[in-house]
Amino acid sequence: MKLHRFPKKIRERLVPEPFGTMRYQCLGCEESFGIERLLYTCPACGSVLMLRHEDEESLVRVGGEVWRDLFDYRRMLNHPPLKGIFRYYEFIAPVIPLEEIVYLGEGHTPLVEANSTLQELAGASFYFKNDGLNPSASFKDRGMACALSYLAYIAEKEHLESPLAICASTGDTSAAAALYASYLGPLLKSAVLLPKGKVTPQQLSQPLGSGAKVLEIQGLFDDCMKVVEALADQYHVALLNSKNSWRILGQESFSFEIAQDFDYEVGDKAVILPIGNAGNITAVMSGFLKFHRAGIIERLPRIIGVQSSHADPVYRYYLEPEPHRRRFRPVSVKPSVAQAAMIGNPVSMPRVIRLVEDYNEAAGAQRVFVVQVSEQEVMDSMILANRNGHVVCTQGGESLAGLKEAVRRGILARGETAVLDSTAHMLKFASFQEMYFEDRFPPEFEVTPDPGLRNAPLEVRPPGLQRYPQPGSPLEGEELADFVEKMAEEIARILGLKRKG
Ligand SMILES: *Cc1c(COP(=O)(O)O)cnc(C)c1O
Ligand SMILES: [Zn+2]
Repeated sequence: MKLHRFPKKIRERLVPEPFGTMRYQCLGCEESFGIERLLYTCPACGSVLMLRHEDEESLVRVGGEVWRDLFDYRRMLNHPPLKGIFRYYEFIAPVIPLEEIVYLGEGHTPLVEANSTLQELAGASFYFKNDGLNPSASFKDRGMACALSYLAYIAEKEHLESPLAICASTGDTSAAAALYASYLGPLLKSAVLLPKGKVTPQQLSQPLGSGAKVLEIQGLFDDCMKVVEALADQYHVALLNSKNSWRILGQESFSFEIAQDFDYEVGDKAVILPIGNAGNITAVMSGFLKFHRAGIIERLPRIIGVQSSHADPVYRYYLEPEPHRRRFRPVSVKPSVAQAAMIGNPVSMPRVIRLVEDYNEAAGAQRVFVVQVSEQEVMDSMILANRNGHVVCTQGGESLAGLKEAVRRGILARGETAVLDSTAHMLKFASFQEMYFEDRFPPEFEVTPDPGLRNAPLEVRPPGLQRYPQPGSPLEGEELADFVEKMAEEIARILGLKRKG
């Protein structure tokens, strides 16, 4: 819709200008730092950081109703920088000028209601929010859109010479980083570190296709993470892992969208998502908290994090009910089909601890929960979801397995509707589906396929058919007619079709 057609009181806010200042806030020593430099950890104490807008009060003063109207009207605005996650510009990073915002089609992913078969199976009403429909096919694009927009802005402002962006990845971070960096062309180069053999072929093909330098390392993700951290400490590189708090800001858009898609009534919703490095659950809590503080939503939804028993440090931490007796201990992970969440020492754990406290306090009751599921349930759930019209990845399967567990444990309240994060597209994790269908899981995965859920292609070879068409030697006349007839007959037999008339 053209600008002049929006109501006058909306028009003046519709295309925002940068305002105020943002600062890094240390979660350890509470020191804060300016954003002229890209920081990952506190220069004073080494803890992780969060970004805060210094003038949050001004957002609160605007009032919930104005914001709700503004975001609903912005849905109709055709202005590229505001078409993606930056529809919520004021709540993400309102210091980046609109001209610097990179938009590759991220965000506003569909909420797809589960059919009645699947809802009955899960014992609850629920939707998948399909973040596999982002440009690089995972939610990581949300964070990269913000981090790379900031990087482009700062590179321009500080006249940086073609900075190198670098990340360690379980697959999807590198795909997203490489994609956004490639769009920024000569301004930026990117390199990604992957644990050799621990990402799927599809995930490996993505940064290669985007032209990033792909470095494979013998080891697990947690080891790669240590190496990029050392690089970021000692060399001039821009770290794009979720230690980079600009990514967290972008990922908050997931919560903003859920709020908007349910007309800002989310008090009766439960958002369920897998936890790996814990950046995403941090962002989801932080996003809802911001909307809550600004009066955009009245009540906070329940948040349920899910971990596989093969990589469950956050689950273990919260097993201890007494907050002052909780001690975080990294775990050593076992092979997991939820490979993107196969992390034993989540970088964002201090953020999670802080935000869970803030969240429960703002809600006035416990609203954040972590459940544990088995590899078997994750895999069965992924296959089941996709047999009912979804396109979820193994981590999306983990969300569904988590929903079932939450129902079993009575964590989901009666009448509550769940929103499950399918964090990536099923095609990225097709190799796990293949192992399931072919019953080829190595024993350490502890997955045995349900025979009723297996599937395989069947080659049709009608008896008595001698010759098949080949490139360069097609069948003709009699021979072609015979081929078609025999094939049709055999297929009809396999499918048990009844003849007409
Ligand atoms: C990164 C990722 C996760 C885990 O998210 P964290 O922020 O690391 O907790 C889950 N699923 C997919 C598909 C991912 O790419
Ligand atoms: Zn500090």
